[in-house]
Amino acid sequence: MQETVFSKIVRKEIPAKIVYEDDQSLAFHDLNAQAPVHVLVIPKRQIVSLEDANDDDSQLLGHLQIVAQRVARLLGIHTTGYRVVMNCGRDGGQSVNHIHYHVLGGRALDWPPG
Ligand code: AMP
Repeated sequence: MQETVFSKIVRKEIPAKIVYEDDQSLAFHDLNAQAPVHVLVIPKRQIVSLEDANDDDSQLLGHLQIVAQRVARLLGIHTTGYRVVMNCGRDGGQSVNHIHYHVLGGRALDWPPG
């Protein structure tokens, strides 16, 4: 499994605007924000994509969703609503091979996505 820039962020080798951290996860602002709030929630342990996850990862993936909720509350978008998205693979638009949720909010989001 090839490491990505997200592992370097986990190890604090490169900077990121961290919003939340615990022993299993890290949340930080996306470098190329697509909404007024755009935060990435990642596990500290690398899983490449949802296609690479298995039953042993269920607790971790559920935890990431609860962290997404926490991030939304911390940044004050929980009352107006927000979107939690995970891109998977080429057609899903995944560009970083370290599984992550996007938490987007602060404006009305279009549906369906492009
Ligand atoms: P995805 O396309 O779903 O794999 O999402 C990857 C996201 O990571 C993109 O929205 C990028 O803007 C974001 N990204 C890439 N490198 C960094 C970085 N060093 N710090 C913060 N966000 C990043």
